[in-house]
Amino acid sequence: MARIVVVGAGVGGLAAAARLAATGHEVTVFERADTVGGKLGRYERDTPAGTFRFDTGPSLLTLPEVFHELFEATGAKLDEYLDLAPLDPIVRHVFPGGGPALDSCADPAEFAARIGAAFGDRAAADWQRLWRRAARVWDASHSDVLRRPVGSPLDLATLAWRLGDLAAIAPGRTLRGLGRRHLSDPRLRMLLDRYATYTGADPRRAPAALVAVPYAELTFGGWYLRGGLGTLADALLTRCLDLGVVVRTGAEVTRIDAAGGRVHGVRLASAAAPVPADVVVANADALTVYRDLLPSPRRLAALTDRSLAGFVLLLGVSGDSGLAHHNVFFPRGTDAEFDAVFGDPGRGVRARPAADPTVFVTVADDPAVRPDGHEAWFVLVNAARHGTAAGAVDWRRPGLTEAYADRILDVLAERGVDVRDRLLFREVRTPADLHADAGAPGGAIHGTAGGLLRPANRGPAAGLWLVGGSTHPGGGLPMVALSAQIVADEIGPAWE
Ligand SMILES: Cc1cc2nc3c(=O)[nH]c(=O)nc-3n(C[C@H](O)[C@H](O)[C@H](O)COP(=O)(O)OP(=O)(O)OC[C@H]3O[C@@H](n4cnc5c(N)ncnc54)[C@H](O)[C@@H]3O)c2cc1C
Repeated sequence: MARIVVVGAGVGGLAAAARLAATGHEVTVFERADTVGGKLGRYERDTPAGTFRFDTGPSLLTLPEVFHELFEATGAKLDEYLDLAPLDPIVRHVFPGGGPALDSCADPAEFAARIGAAFGDRAAADWQRLWRRAARVWDASHSDVLRRPVGSPLDLATLAWRLGDLAAIAPGRTLRGLGRRHLSDPRLRMLLDRYATYTGADPRRAPAALVAVPYAELTFGGWYLRGGLGTLADALLTRCLDLGVVVRTGAEVTRIDAAGGRVHGVRLASAAAPVPADVVVANADALTVYRDLLPSPRRLAALTDRSLAGFVLLLGVSGDSGLAHHNVFFPRGTDAEFDAVFGDPGRGVRARPAADPTVFVTVADDPAVRPDGHEAWFVLVNAARHGTAAGAVDWRRPGLTEAYADRILDVLAERGVDVRDRLLFREVRTPADLHADAGAPGGAIHGTAGGLLRPANRGPAAGLWLVGGSTHPGGGLPMVALSAQIVADEIGPAWE
């Protein structure tokens, strides 16, 4: 049995803790915030009309079998903890110019038919051709890339080679290039581009292999969790506590003790005495681990770009807007948005809040999250990271947050959804808030945005492991849970 310390109670940290405790280890989780869940955050507001409950992070669950496997591996059934609601449409796409909206779904033939009905037979045929390539990318990446550990530089090189292989299956090199090659309708190109931002990346630079992301969503489906996605954090916490994991919130780890090439424990901000450990599993962002928590700062081998961040509005709305669960409102041209959000110091383009962004609106038809006759809106736009460098925006600049929130509401009104006179309240979450609340450097949603090549799960000292969205195999709830599975498998059970 090893004494294992987990640094951070995000989904990756809790999932790793539950798996490790289930195999007989003694596990303690230290979380700097007062609640668990990390980016899977929640916000509640009481009003005279009743209580509104919001997810402040994820709004869509994909690949739930990863979580079924997680619960089963810890001796439980997911359905006893969570109430999964499949979505159709998964997302309603509303394009500029007032043409037909396009509802995505988990049945590829049905989706192609919907494309045909909305945009014509040629668009549907284009999409089906793209889908055949996407299937090959998924088949090649699913077991070979996403479920395997990346431990050493050699593993990384092998993975890079496999990714090269994927690039050959999905030519065009970038996701944008793939769309250009296969899709003649600009609306479908926009739709495909958006999936790069799902992983925090710019579609003009993201690898074409990311076509595996829409493939997973539009083949296997997308789900809502009744009561909110945050119920996943409750379920993971309950599972951990039932398995004897000690979870301490309000406990910031300031240092991972490592000497002689291996870890020895951690230091807490609140206690002078070190906490000894045989193994440390770090769920903090990989950049934080390498730069701030190890005794001597190190460079991250696979670190490429930082992921984009998000600007979030939580709106209490009266009445019924008639929106789908997920709605995406596209702008006229998306490149101005990507230039603004990512900046390009090489071309002298500074990052800034996008004036005409893609707006993502989630409205759950769930009485558990809003009073009768009202809606709880989660509004998300892509945003530059928080900071003062050329590729970032200082989201603490006086007046910026409120002015940009006004702008987003105006943009929605311009696109036909005006809620400005139906607002009970609005609450804003900027990248600076995610930085402060979830310890995400710059509020980056996924740490690095290098597509499929991310920092390794094996840390630079023996006994140090990294889990979570900033490490292999990447961001998003299922990928993060897979990183926990990879790490728990590598550490192995206590009885071995
Ligand atoms: C706005 C938004 C929308 C998203 N939408 C989706 C979606 O629809 N679907 C989807 O699948 N994913 C989505 N994601 C991504 C998803 O939320 C993340 O990939 C996932 O929750 C990250 O989990 P993680 O394990 O990396 O941990 P994190 O959530 O990053 O948590 C890390 C934890 O470590 C703690 N910590 C950090 N440093 C220390 C320290 N020194 N000591 C102690 N504790 C520390 C932090 O406080 C935090 O709780 C979204 C994210 C955001 C922000």
